[in-house]
Formats: sequence, structure tokens, C-alpha cells
Amino acid sequence: MRVLRRYMHNSLRNFNYLLACEHSHQAIALDPLDGEAMVALAQQHGLQIKLIINTHEHHDHIEGNPAVQAATGAPVWAHENARIPNQAHGIKAGDWIELGTMRLQALHTPGHTPVHVCLLAPASEYDAVPRLFSGDTLFNACAGNCKNGGNVDDMYESFVSQLMPLPDETLLYPGHDYMKNNLGFALDREPGNAMASYWQQQVAATPEDDMPLMTLGQERQYNPFLRLHTPEVIAGLRQQFPDLSADDRAVFKALRQLRDHW
Ligand SMILES: [Zn+2]
Repeated sequence: MRVLRRYMHNSLRNFNYLLACEHSHQAIALDPLDGEAMVALAQQHGLQIKLIINTHEHHDHIEGNPAVQAATGAPVWAHENARIPNQAHGIKAGDWIELGTMRLQALHTPGHTPVHVCLLAPASEYDAVPRLFSGDTLFNACAGNCKNGGNVDDMYESFVSQLMPLPDETLLYPGHDYMKNNLGFALDREPGNAMASYWQQQVAATPEDDMPLMTLGQERQYNPFLRLHTPEVIAGLRQQFPDLSADDRAVFKALRQLRDHW
């Protein structure tokens, strides 16, 4: 699989992706915000967009659908309970989406919104590394917010049951570039985290278009939402929440609450 990532230079800091089969040159436009830009990118690389997939229904993840559709005729797919204009197909948890040699499994990951899906491309004979397209569920150094129709208990469940078990080598492709800010939050929660400091320095001067691709193994080293057992994280939370238990769910929810106001 070839992945083309474009930073959209908008205030919400979206990433748009084209996922392409290197053999058939067919592509999926994932969460297009600027549809014309995605169509131009596909043309520039000799790719044919055959499918539009939206991880969820928020406007900044679907706004480019009409322009991509007008130029390519590609249908819009999203979770079966999503209500997205012109949606042609409802994705169910566990569905396999195949295009050329690409095989992606849909993970239903409610939390940011009830209908959110992540796409997982396991390692295969065509692609040595697993890839996770995480939309607004898992970000570099953070979890997505639950403020716009979401539910933090669902987010916790999605993390624990579906994302945390994925292999360390999985490459992470989030829906937004929030890494620098999120690393600041990670260090606020865990000031002694050497990997968070290291990556904060590494990306301090990096333009958004060149932000590094991280693996889940790396994320586990600094993302507080993947470090729920860490004594420093729990001790820090207890300064604000003296009665906090060390229960994973309670730690996750307290982190999310602080991040909402950070
Ligand atoms: Zn969203």
C-alpha cells in the first residue's frame, strides 16, 4: 500500500489521505476535506480514486466528498449508522474493505462519535507493516475528544478492546496534526518522560507536512492515554482528583477531562 498524506493548512489541522494499491493504481480518499486537492493529488500520482471513506460524520472529515465524487464517481462509505450526504454503503464492525491488493478491516471505535470507524491494514504479502488509520480516535500523544456527540466511556472501551492490543510496529495515521501540542500535554502529565521530551525536541521545528510517522510502540512510550498504569501519571492526576482510583477507566477519563481544558 502506498499512503499519500497531505496536511490541509486549516485551523483544525486536518490530514487528508489517499490510500493506493501500487499494482492497480486504485485509491481510497479518506476523510477528504479539500476534494479538489485530493483529486489533483491522485492525478499527479496516476491514481484512480474508486472509493471515499469517512471515519465519522464531522464536517471537517466529509466536506470534500462532493468534489471527489463529482470528479471520480466514487461512492461514499461510512459506518452503517452514520448519516452522511450521498452515503452509498454502511460499514459494519469487522468488515473487510478490499481494493486492488489493499485489505482494510473496519474497526468500530465509538467515543469521539458513536459511528466512528478506524481502518486497520494488517501486514500482508504486499505490505510488510500494519497500518492504522485512526481518524479522531487516536492521535499522536493523545486520544480524541468526546465533546461533539461522543462518550468518554465508549472511547475508553475502544482504546482498551481494539487499539491497545495492536502490534507495536503498527504505523499510525491520525486525522489531525496535533502532535506538538499533545506532547506538551503529555509532558504536563508526566514531566519525567524522556521520550516525550525527545520527541518534543525532534518535532519542534518540523513543518506540518513533514511530521514523522510514528508507530504504536513509540506512542506507548509517551501517549498518556496508552500509559494508564504509569505511577507518575496517576500521582499527577491525584493532585487534581485526590480520590482517584488507579482503575484504568478512571485514569483515562480524568486524563480526557484535563485535556479538554488544557
Ligand atoms: Zn471529528
